[in-house]
Amino acid sequence: MIKDKVAEVKDTMARACKIAGRNSSEVSLIAVSKTKPVSMLLEAYEAGCRDFGENKVQELTDKYSQLPDDIRWHMIGHLQRNKVKYIVGKVFLIHSVDSLKLAEEISREAVKKKVTVNILVEINVAEEESKFGISCGEASALVEKIALLPGICVKGLMTIAPYVENAEENRQYFVKLRQLCVDIKNKNIDNVSMDILSMGMTGDYAVAVEEGATYVRVGTGIFGDRNYEM
Ligand SMILES: *Cc1c(COP(=O)(O)O)cnc(C)c1O
Repeated sequence: MIKDKVAEVKDTMARACKIAGRNSSEVSLIAVSKTKPVSMLLEAYEAGCRDFGENKVQELTDKYSQLPDDIRWHMIGHLQRNKVKYIVGKVFLIHSVDSLKLAEEISREAVKKKVTVNILVEINVAEEESKFGISCGEASALVEKIALLPGICVKGLMTIAPYVENAEENRQYFVKLRQLCVDIKNKNIDNVSMDILSMGMTGDYAVAVEEGATYVRVGTGIFGDRNYEM
């Protein structure tokens, strides 16, 4: 049952908070519902979930139109510039900004729609070939450039850690992302807050919470395995 899974994940998050001496209210759960039908999202909604993560624009907007409007939608997947217009005004937070060009497009669309779009910069902390995101070394300069654009506000950083059997192997990357976030925050850049750290997935979210995550993104742990052939 999705309800039991949500309770289980929240329990694990609370335990990780306790270990780290953090208040549970500092960390929110994003139910990653990609590939899953609306009926399952509704079950998670009934279980108290209000933050949902999707990685495809079309799927996000389809579900957006069918589900209650107090849901906060998170765009967590790679975003193409030509699709920005479909989600600005609908998403609560875009986690996957990894270039100035993409940020400029979001800014243009935000100004046009007279809204402010909150975003995270995606960092490829482990420098994996297969992943999107910029390197730690490029982060600060990109944040400074995005900060100058109207209608867009940098709120923090996001990473997708490597797929590992033992979550402890990813602790180093979570530590690194958090440190990077603190370093950029200490620059006190206008229009930049750096209070959000989106890190941790089904396999490693407890470790991510121990190391300072403010959002964890859990899919399989709530909805079960994904079948991409569906
Ligand atoms: C799919 C996905 C998740 C959730 O992954 P699980 O291992 O199923 O928890 C989290 N973040 C991003 C960016 C994803 O694409």
